[in-house]
Amino acid sequence: MAIIKTQAIVLKTKAFRETSLIATLLTESNGRIQVLVKGIRSKNNRYNSCLQPLTLNKIVFYQKKKSDLHLATQCELIKRFEPLHKDLVKMAYASFCLEIIDRTTQENDPNAELFRLLVDTLRQICTQKDAENPALVFQVRALHLLGFMPQLKFCSCCGREVKIHTPGVRIHALRECVGKFSFSPESGGLVCGACLRKDSKVQPISKGALASLLHIGGKEWEGIGRFNLSKKIIDELKKPILDFTREHTQAELRTLEFIEKIQSKQLNG
Ligand SMILES: [Zn+2]
Repeated sequence: MAIIKTQAIVLKTKAFRETSLIATLLTESNGRIQVLVKGIRSKNNRYNSCLQPLTLNKIVFYQKKKSDLHLATQCELIKRFEPLHKDLVKMAYASFCLEIIDRTTQENDPNAELFRLLVDTLRQICTQKDAENPALVFQVRALHLLGFMPQLKFCSCCGREVKIHTPGVRIHALRECVGKFSFSPESGGLVCGACLRKDSKVQPISKGALASLLHIGGKEWEGIGRFNLSKKIIDELKKPILDFTREHTQAELRTLEFIEKIQSKQLNG
């Protein structure tokens, strides 16, 4: 049994027996794991954190070889991301990010970059006025880090590649779709003019939206704080990216319904 000390974001918890807790965490060193924390719900709890979801903690745990449930012996609260716990909209978007991680990652599969992305995203949701922007950038970058990124350089049906050069941004895309590109969540990315007829579920996206996707999933990533997508691009991308996430990760995202409710309330005043 190895003893591991790491940082972790609490994704979710459930009560166990009288006073214990089982927590699902995204850790910096071991990816998503489940830990049992004995006695943390008792009156004389000896821990320096109650492992509330959406908090950053320092933890020490015994890694069990024969079980997926490890034993945490120490936990200490580092950051509570206070604004998330006070603002329903921020809380909804942050919970949506946690759910994507919970539904799309494998247990005990380390991904330190994904961990850092989540911590930075929660910070951005706390400080930015519009939580939708960091949540969408997170979603695309997480797809990239998990190997689910949409196909944006070739036709996702026939595999043809055509290069287009536009001033300032070099986009590899498909000549048939100049101006607007056709994105198919079902096929897994862009589709060319010839394949368009075979796919009834394509959604149009603009050159600007495509450039944003390529940038977020690209090598020049400088952190989530660098991305400030316009409302127009967010509105254009949120549905195709969400449909893509559902389709390719097989994740049924429960927090989404809640976000949709909040958005329709905001629209109706
Ligand atoms: Zn094609």
